[in-house]
This record gives sequence, structure tokens and C-alpha cells, in this order.
Amino acid sequence: MSMWQVVGQTRAVSLLQHSLERGSLAHAYLLIGPAHVGKMTLALNLAQALNCQASEPPCGECASCQKIALAKHADVQIIGLTSDGNSAEAKPRAEISIDQIRQMQHSASLPPFEGRYKVFIVDGAEQLSTEAANCLLKTLEEPVGKVIFILLATNERLLPPTVVSRCQRLELPPLAATEVEAALNSGWGIEPQKAKLLARLSHGCLGWAISAAYDDGLLQQRAQQLDRLLDIINADYEERFAYAAQLAAQFSQNRGWVQGILDLWLDWWRDLLLVKVDCNDAIINIDRSATLIEKAKGYNLAQIRVFINNIQAAGEQLRLNANPQLVLETLMLSIPGSRGEMRETSVQFEVNYG
Ligand SMILES: [Zn+2]
Repeated sequence: MSMWQVVGQTRAVSLLQHSLERGSLAHAYLLIGPAHVGKMTLALNLAQALNCQASEPPCGECASCQKIALAKHADVQIIGLTSDGNSAEAKPRAEISIDQIRQMQHSASLPPFEGRYKVFIVDGAEQLSTEAANCLLKTLEEPVGKVIFILLATNERLLPPTVVSRCQRLELPPLAATEVEAALNSGWGIEPQKAKLLARLSHGCLGWAISAAYDDGLLQQRAQQLDRLLDIINADYEERFAYAAQLAAQFSQNRGWVQGILDLWLDWWRDLLLVKVDCNDAIINIDRSATLIEKAKGYNLAQIRVFINNIQAAGEQLRLNANPQLVLETLMLSIPGSRGEMRETSVQFEVNYG
């Protein structure tokens, strides 16, 4: 029986399986899906299927399949931002260069060395420089036998439409939280409570959940960021502005990190909304359910909805290159005050003047 390692993604897998059986493979694929959803796993699986020595590929066990899994197969190459900077100090490049694509083209012009097919996986295809994308386009327009290109991308709008049109497009949607949870339990032996939390925090991206299961740093970081969020909700304007300035300063170097913080905020406020409408079972931050239940009492539904919209708008404005400090300060100003806090303030007021 063939062993596709990728979890879920039945549509993409069955399409590829059919193409393999009928011998009707495309010479280029574009795998679209969020980070850590399984694009690389599926790409490597396809490379295994193409070079597997067993009767029902990919077997996952033959020498060829194992070499590919360990990235040691001479005919399967991964091209990306870090493909030749293995040392930790090597600064990752900002884009995939035309030189990398030229090297790939040269390699593609040679016959397979040990397998049946040459497979080139372009990881983070949206990071192709314009020249590199144009250079790759030529290759895609003139397919050669026994060579398959697999492009991986999170956002196809960042790719030239000419490149997209030359590939067979396969979409890898996020998995259901229950699917991630089951995979963590059965495939990775993660204890049930942790699996449940990670599955929800992963937003359907199993790869993230697996990383977080083995690297406690990721959960610790989230805990710190959540604590900071709760502080900021109760903080005065001065502290909120200082926090906005801090995030804005980070933004120029690490956009992804700031977007990650906004996503965390979004999850938190969506959870408050869910608690408010008695859907506690659906919340993401299950390890903080007691806090969520308590905090939800301080807001009405409209306040929560408005702030969720504001977080989403801020994220969109940042993506459109608005001034990060302005966007984040505006967001900080719009944090709704909870009824609990207002009561405390008025009590203080009475004490001061009474
Ligand atoms: Zn095999």
C-alpha cells in the first residue's frame, strides 16, 4: 500500500495518486497553503512516489524513499532562502536569486543520477526575485521529460500570474483542529491535554503543532505574549503607546512577528466573543478558559465585535504598508474599557473626593 505521509489533504493526495497511476503528471505543480500546513511534506512525498522502488509508491521504506526523506537523494533538490546557508550565523537572503534558478536549470538539464525523475522543490516561491521568476518561467514553458518542479507558496498573489498559469495548482487548506489533535495523539504520542491545546493553537497547521510539541519555547513565548496582552488591556494610554512603539520598531525587521502578535490578539478576542455567546467548547485558548470567562463578563457583544474588526483592520493596513506606529497606536486607543475597570475607577473617584 502506498504511504502518503502528509496528514489530511485528501483532495491533493488523491489527485496526485490518480495522475501517478495514469502517468499523466504535470511537469510543474504549485502547492498553495498556510505555513506549516504540510506543503513540504507533500512535495517530498511526491518526489518519493516518483522515485520509489516499491510496487505501490511511495512506500516510505525503500532506499530511495528514505534518502528523499533525509534530503540526501541526488535527484531531489530544495531551492529556498536558506538552501545553501546551513550555518546558524548565515544571514538568510531576502530573495531567491537568479543564480539559484540558473544552477537549478543546469542541474535539470542533466539526466537523473540515481532515480527516475529529477524533482526540484522551490520553497517559498513568493520570494523569487523578479529576474529569478522570469528565468524560471522559461524553464516552465519548455518542459523536459523526467523533470518535475514543485513550487510551494503561502500567497499566490505574490507570484507572477505567468508562473502560476504554467503550474498545476493544488490547494492545501488548514486541517480541522480534531484532525491535528488525532494526528498528534496517534502519530506523535503527544499527551491528550497538550495535543488538544496545540491542535487549537495551530490553526490547522500540523507542522506548527509538532514543532511546539517538541520545543517548549514556542508555548512559553505564547504565554508571555498573552500575559503582556492582558497587562496592556488594563494599562493606561502611556503604557499602551509605549507598547505600540515597541511593536512598530520590531515591524521593520520582523513583520511576521508583529502579525503573529495581532493573530494572538484576534484569537483572544474571538474567544471572548465565543464565551459571551456560550460556545466555550470552541475557544482556542483552552488553558486560559477561566480568565476568558471572567474577562468576558466585563464587555458587551458589540464592544468585542468592534474591537475584533479593529484588529483585523490593523492587520490589513500593515499588509498594505501603512505607517506601523500610527496603525498600532490607533489600535491601542480602541481597546474597549471593561465594566469592571470602570467600576474600580469610579470607586477610586469616590474615595478621592469623598
Ligand atoms: Zn519507496
